[in-house]
Amino acid sequence: MGLFDDLEKLAKTVATEIGKNVKVCPQCGAPAGVEQKFCQSCGAQLPEGSVAQGAVCENCGKQNDLGTKFCIECGTKLPIAVQEEQAAAARNQQVMDEWNMYLGQYPQWSFGGRAYNIEDYGDGNYVFSAEFNNYQEGYNAVQQYSQILQQNGFQPAGQYPSMEHLYKMVGGICYHVDLEHCFEGDHNCPSIGFSVGEPSGGFNYVKPQPKPQIDLGDIKKLGKLFKF
Ligand SMILES: [Zn+2]
Ligand SMILES: [Zn+2]
Repeated sequence: MGLFDDLEKLAKTVATEIGKNVKVCPQCGAPAGVEQKFCQSCGAQLPEGSVAQGAVCENCGKQNDLGTKFCIECGTKLPIAVQEEQAAAARNQQVMDEWNMYLGQYPQWSFGGRAYNIEDYGDGNYVFSAEFNNYQEGYNAVQQYSQILQQNGFQPAGQYPSMEHLYKMVGGICYHVDLEHCFEGDHNCPSIGFSVGEPSGGFNYVKPQPKPQIDLGDIKKLGKLFKF
């Protein structure tokens, strides 16, 4: 073992020692003392044990280094990794609850991923994002979402119709989904733009016409004419 390996091992040991006196908030990531029950930053309930305890294997009792997800002795998933997954699932659920609040006119996302987020850009513009392991997974999920949009009455519109810009009129309001600029920020994290109103900026958009209302009086008149 070289000096660097020795130092790295020492750093891990020291970190694990410090971790015996520290908790980490599963909600916001802020550090806290072992005696604390609630996070001082966000008020979330803190886990029972310290960070170091979270890396003690429940199967074989091995104290693993901090940052380890699976026990190096027996491969069991460590309590801290289980806690992190549960906290992430709870955060995602919270975002999907917010979906109904902000994006209720659009079919809800159910195409996997993790670390969901909805950002409010103002004026009825929202961006939803989900992280994936790789670009292909994210790409496939976006394609599936595009199909669900179409099944829900979203259509390509405009002089140059595109499956990457889908629209739906609801109660005289145009709801627009942008699937074109999904991967501009991060290739493993598609960001889908949702906006109310007609798009601007050179996109040659033709507003879809609402279907004409059928007048019952006209049908009666037609009935007399054609005797049905
Ligand atoms: Zn917190
Ligand atoms: Zn173990």
